[in-house]
Amino acid sequence: SPIPDYLTEVLDSTREDASGNVADYIPELARANPDVAAIALATVEGSVYCVGDAEQEFSIQSMSKPFTYALALADRGIEAVGERIGVEPSGEAFNEISLEAGTGRPLNPMINAGAIAAHSLVRADSAAERDRRVLEHYSAFAGRELGIAEEVFESEQSTGHRNLGLGHLMKSFGIIDDDPVDVVNGYIRQCSVAVTVRDLALMAATLANSGVQPVTGQRVVDAYATRHVLSVMTSCGMYDAAGDWLTTVGIPAKSGVAGGIIGVLPGQVGVAVFSPRLDAHGNSARGIRMMERISRDLGMHLMEAT
Ligand code: GLN
Repeated sequence: SPIPDYLTEVLDSTREDASGNVADYIPELARANPDVAAIALATVEGSVYCVGDAEQEFSIQSMSKPFTYALALADRGIEAVGERIGVEPSGEAFNEISLEAGTGRPLNPMINAGAIAAHSLVRADSAAERDRRVLEHYSAFAGRELGIAEEVFESEQSTGHRNLGLGHLMKSFGIIDDDPVDVVNGYIRQCSVAVTVRDLALMAATLANSGVQPVTGQRVVDAYATRHVLSVMTSCGMYDAAGDWLTTVGIPAKSGVAGGIIGVLPGQVGVAVFSPRLDAHGNSARGIRMMERISRDLGMHLMEAT
């Protein structure tokens, strides 16, 4: 297949881009090697192509958000979730302390406030059971048993005051029913799931495949909820850079502060890139360059008539 050679060429062509900085508000992430880089592409038929540092595990961070949101939708239904979490782009940073005036409803599930609320909507009798269900659900998307990067979890837990603040605020508004400290700890845990670009490409390919994991054949989420998740990723997945991303790359996507980005071309492929240096929006700087090239070369932009 010519695909690995092509992906290697994309990796090489972006190598001189050393702009941005690794995230340092989570101390453990500041220790990342900024020069690792990897790309994986998974088709809805189940072919997977990986290049670069594809064995390197890193924390999923905000790329977890669409998957937990999907589980909340499956557990509660789109309408009930919509009463607690909106679907409007916020045009703000991922950690913005912004809740709808009056209701306290987060604008969307891709910013931290909405993601914390989505985590709380996963059905469970205890915080531990919720953590277990979330991890099992991500594992079903990836097609293998995933684990937690405990050092990342502990590091963010000891510095996660802003997210705790959001949790308490939403509890006061009745958006979150459970103990906000448990919920925020669970959210931080979901952000600490360790993945490779291969895992992420398969998770994205499951969304591309209407919710059926391409390799295991397992239906992880129904087609209607998948469509809903992809729509929200399109308008909100890249935070206050969502418009820039939509015009240049043109596919539903989600970034994480460890340096990963996933992109989904419905009916076709899931793509994942990894490079830890972030731009001012908290999105991988070199990862965006890689995605721009792949989208252009493969004609992935959704608004392009083919
Ligand atoms: N765990 C991180 C946080 O809540 C996730 C942020 C991100 O990846 N953008 O700050």
